[in-house]
Amino acid sequence: MSYLDYDLSLTDEQREIRDAAHKFAAEVLRPTGIALDRMTPEEVIADGSPLFDVLKQASELGYTRAAGPAELGGLELPPLVSHMVFEELAWGSVGVAGVIFLSSTHADTALGSQNAESIEEFAAPYYGSSDGSIIGCWAITEPDHGSDTLAAVSPDLAVKVKGQLVARADGDDWIINGQKSAWVSNGPIATHAMLNLQIAGEDSFARGAICVMPLDLPGISRGPSLDKHGCRSLPQGEIFFDDVRIPKRWMVLGPDLCGIYMDAHLSIFNAGVSCIATGLARSAYDCTLEYCKERVQGGKPIFEHQSVRSRLFRMFQLVQASRAMSRGAYIYNVSKLLGGEQAVLQHSIAAKVFCTNSALEVCTLAVQLHGGNGMTKEYPVEMFLRDATSFTIADGENALLTQIGAALL
Ligand SMILES: Cc1cc2nc3c(=O)[nH]c(=O)nc-3n(C[C@H](O)[C@H](O)[C@H](O)COP(=O)(O)OP(=O)(O)OC[C@H]3O[C@@H](n4cnc5c(N)ncnc54)[C@H](O)[C@@H]3O)c2cc1C
Repeated sequence: MSYLDYDLSLTDEQREIRDAAHKFAAEVLRPTGIALDRMTPEEVIADGSPLFDVLKQASELGYTRAAGPAELGGLELPPLVSHMVFEELAWGSVGVAGVIFLSSTHADTALGSQNAESIEEFAAPYYGSSDGSIIGCWAITEPDHGSDTLAAVSPDLAVKVKGQLVARADGDDWIINGQKSAWVSNGPIATHAMLNLQIAGEDSFARGAICVMPLDLPGISRGPSLDKHGCRSLPQGEIFFDDVRIPKRWMVLGPDLCGIYMDAHLSIFNAGVSCIATGLARSAYDCTLEYCKERVQGGKPIFEHQSVRSRLFRMFQLVQASRAMSRGAYIYNVSKLLGGEQAVLQHSIAAKVFCTNSALEVCTLAVQLHGGNGMTKEYPVEMFLRDATSFTIADGENALLTQIGAALL
């Protein structure tokens, strides 16, 4: 039994876009994601790494510009279609899909700020390029402040605390000092950042500020690319700022508006992670179904044993439920924000927590149904399980996000 897309309203053109994304995911992202998983973090970001070739191909095909405005060069895919595309890309490789998804972060923040100068300076060049050379990142967490940074959307977390990246005014400029954590996705390869920071004199992440900036300015340096358990194809690393001078116009959101923007931003990102987790769970289900039809024990393919089928059915249920929940939250919240209305964050949080926990369960079952083979690098489910663990922590650890979502009910 396979899974269906229940959406009977899909047009032939939408199915074609989805199928083209699946083909790219199967033929390019899956093999590259596996190759990158086995490389050292230094090799993943070195010149000539297959990561950059794939990013270039993804950009040429428009996947880095999927949801962007057509007037600037984006494909302006409707939310339903961009969700389908990202689910397919994540089916191929969650890490590489993450690199692609995050690449537009600085450009989208410039768009979200509605500041004409910032849009011209950051969004237009990004959406106008198709060679994968402009790579964004979202640098928010700090070595001593991971969950604390969610204070902007949760009064419960708004304790008095000094940030490790602080900006002070200096005439018409801001001077930035400090660092971001080793977990900044795309940090080692990003050309631009959406940067959350604290304004000197403030004392809580509930009143942060956001700037958009290039990362080739004097005083900026990077830490090593992080050597980690899962999502190894997604480079992560620290960014250091030593008296970095930026013009005031790049500080796109001050303490009074930062919380409102973070609510919108997390609504998109949590829903985006739920989409990526759905693609991951689907890939684990697909591989496991195929394996169970081939592996013979007890004189017949293990697929024919009732307990194996029951476990496959559980995986199947979770994949279908994840897609429905993720797609619903993503379409609703992206549509609301595009229409100038407020997103409903708790729906994105619910989708993120449900889909990433489901992906973890699906990938655990995938490994168990592969038996000993599931522990080896001969089969991709071993990597899928490590990747699934990462997403229960990314964009807010699931137990804490549950606490935040519950407070919003
Ligand atoms: C795959 C991946 C991608 C990521 N991408 C990025 C990125 O692009 N940019 C970026 O800046 N960061 C990124 N991160 C960092 C991520 O946002 C943080 O890891 C996450 O928010 C948790 O912070 P922490 O690791 O510091 O854990 P901590 O905040 O130290 O939390 C440890 C534990 O304590 C619990 N806890 C903490 N505070 C509270 C509280 N007040 N109440 C109850 N429980 C609490 C947490 O729930 C958790 O279980 C990424 C992380 C991963 C794994």
